[in-house]
Amino acid sequence: MSYSIETLCQHLEGDDVNAHFGAISYPIYQTAAFAHKGFGQSSGYDYTRLQNPTRAQLEKTVAQLEHGIDCIAFSSGMCAIGCVMELFHPGDHILIDEDLYGGSIRLFREINAKNGIEFTSAPLSRVNVEEYIKDNTRAVYLETPTNPMMNVTDLAALARVTKKHVILLIVDNTFLSPYFQNPLELGADIVLHSGTKFLAGHHDAIAGFAIVKDPELRDRLRFLFKTTGAGLDPFDAWLVLRGIKTLAVRMDRAEQNAERLAAFLDSDPHVTRVLYPGLPKHPGYEIMKKQARGFGAMITFDVPSREFAIAVLEHVNVILFAESLGGTESLITYPVTQTHSDVPKDVLERNGIHETTLRLSVGIEGVEDLIGDLRQAFQKAAELCGWSQEA
Ligand code: PLP
Repeated sequence: MSYSIETLCQHLEGDDVNAHFGAISYPIYQTAAFAHKGFGQSSGYDYTRLQNPTRAQLEKTVAQLEHGIDCIAFSSGMCAIGCVMELFHPGDHILIDEDLYGGSIRLFREINAKNGIEFTSAPLSRVNVEEYIKDNTRAVYLETPTNPMMNVTDLAALARVTKKHVILLIVDNTFLSPYFQNPLELGADIVLHSGTKFLAGHHDAIAGFAIVKDPELRDRLRFLFKTTGAGLDPFDAWLVLRGIKTLAVRMDRAEQNAERLAAFLDSDPHVTRVLYPGLPKHPGYEIMKKQARGFGAMITFDVPSREFAIAVLEHVNVILFAESLGGTESLITYPVTQTHSDVPKDVLERNGIHETTLRLSVGIEGVEDLIGDLRQAFQKAAELCGWSQEA
């Protein structure tokens, strides 16, 4: 029997319901070390940096959700990405998408490059990727949709290229979560998540995941994981396990809200650009329909000026001005000074991230409250900035 994704969020396939005294909520094993019965006798758990039952339960859950053979749970999304980068050596070349979460760009530019890894960035959704592959290219790294520009890349087509050149395809699947997209099924070799976002889902835990389908890659990553030591702690592992129980209903509801909000923003005179891959005019709409089961709950949009954008941030009430995403509460972010503050100005401009750009993570509140909140914030911003439709 193969469980549906909704059921997998509740129970692992093959779980023993009588284990742990029948506890329905998985126990938190808050221990640093595990005693041995005798010499050479391990329960399978020795030291929490290496393995912990609560973290293992979460890892098995996320591995099943992403259709991988293993998942490693890290103490943040950045730890997961950083550990995956340890697979590479000085002189290796990695092709990365030009538009990525700012923290990933900072890691590649400021830390991995210093250690001798060479990066080339290109707008992967629009270029012929093969032209960027060199003799020393070892991997292609991307998000789809990207943060924050919502660019969509055809993963199956890209996987054909990476397979041909025998290089790794690494996909950060944070924006859609495994509920809407499974890159391993489309040919990716490693899937990454900021588990802080849709997987945890409540803005109350920081976590990261790396999921693989190849045993050799699993063994190498497990070695790097135990050696570098950025494992998710048992309590946060439990929080994410609990968050995952409602992943399906949260994603469905957040997406419904996002579709309504995208339509509202698209028709509002204060809004000069809306990027949401669920809008049929979005260039990635057809690819999304082919490779994902939904369009997600992230929307990027522009307003007439920097002052207008700041006034919106300062006048929303239901929506909170904060730099994260993927939780039950809607958050609005200003990428140029928050999520992408360390990305060089020329790169921001080239990617289309301006001082007028706002990013909205849509939550599960009443959608009329969200629309009403944006409408009143736009009105206040228009008054403060002296904006009028005729101007
Ligand atoms: N990947 C994406 C797409 C993100 O948006 C983020 C954070 O915002 C990360 C990775 C990093 O995750 P974390 O903040 O959990 O370290």
